[in-house]
Amino acid sequence: MKNFENKTIIITGAAMGLGLAVAKELAMRGANLTLVDYNQQSLSEAKDEISRDFPDNKIITVVADVSQEAAVKGYVDETINQFGRIDGLYNNAGIEGKQASITEYDLDTFKKVIDINLMGVYYAMRYVIPYMQNQKYGRIVNVASVGGIRGVLNQTPYVATKHAVSGMTKNAALEYAKDGINTNAIAPGAILTPMVAEAFKQVNPEDPKAAESEYAKANPTKRLGLPEEVAKVVAFLLSDECSYVNGQILAIDGGQSNSY
Ligand code: NAD
Repeated sequence: MKNFENKTIIITGAAMGLGLAVAKELAMRGANLTLVDYNQQSLSEAKDEISRDFPDNKIITVVADVSQEAAVKGYVDETINQFGRIDGLYNNAGIEGKQASITEYDLDTFKKVIDINLMGVYYAMRYVIPYMQNQKYGRIVNVASVGGIRGVLNQTPYVATKHAVSGMTKNAALEYAKDGINTNAIAPGAILTPMVAEAFKQVNPEDPKAAESEYAKANPTKRLGLPEEVAKVVAFLLSDECSYVNGQILAIDGGQSNSY
């Protein structure tokens, strides 16, 4: 299905994990892509892999730290210079921080999580939305988490920033739907990406696989999700077909957030 031909999508955190999976899904559907990440090496490997599989797509990469306002303006300007428009934004770059209780949490890490997960998502909307307003069209998918709709033990800054992403999504949906811009968020549960692998290492450094199996037991599906399963949902939310879904925080977690 080539439903993204002639569309330009910006993907942040595109070098691996969910960002890379979405990049592949959209490339398959014909999109032109701006791939943004601060990991230069992995970003260039990601681009090479996608270009090998989809040689006809126009793909640019921008090395940028999304927590730096000037860098965000930079990747938006670069996208306009290269493609002339921005149809979609997959606002995905984020970090988990550490596992520690509120009183034990290291403040520098706390602030870093805020700068990347909250400010990075905000700066992207701030600089992308004016172009979408001019076009009278746009699709934004912000990446929250199930930690954006409920608490997660020992991850206060992560949960705080992901709730903020949910809140900003609802506001953007209210403010810009009149301009043809739909804004939604996804709230993934545990999806097998490098970030989640790292989290299981922190939970059980001796045996991360045991931590993973233990976690999966609580999920109704008895397994973790796959990046490709998230990418298909994101592709819908970024498409023309997503014309009357706006301001939603969509859990992609096998149903786990319904249990308590
Ligand atoms: P990941 O660590 O596997 O990949 C994240 C990518 O973002 C990396 O390539 C990294 O270099 C990049 N990145 C991080 N900080 C950046 C910055 N400041 N500037 C530019 N690039 C930066 O993580 P993932 O699991 O793919 O997670 C992607 C998003 O999904 C995050 O926002 C995360 O919070 C969210 N999420 C993931 C899960 C999951 O289970 N994997 C669950 C809920 C939410």
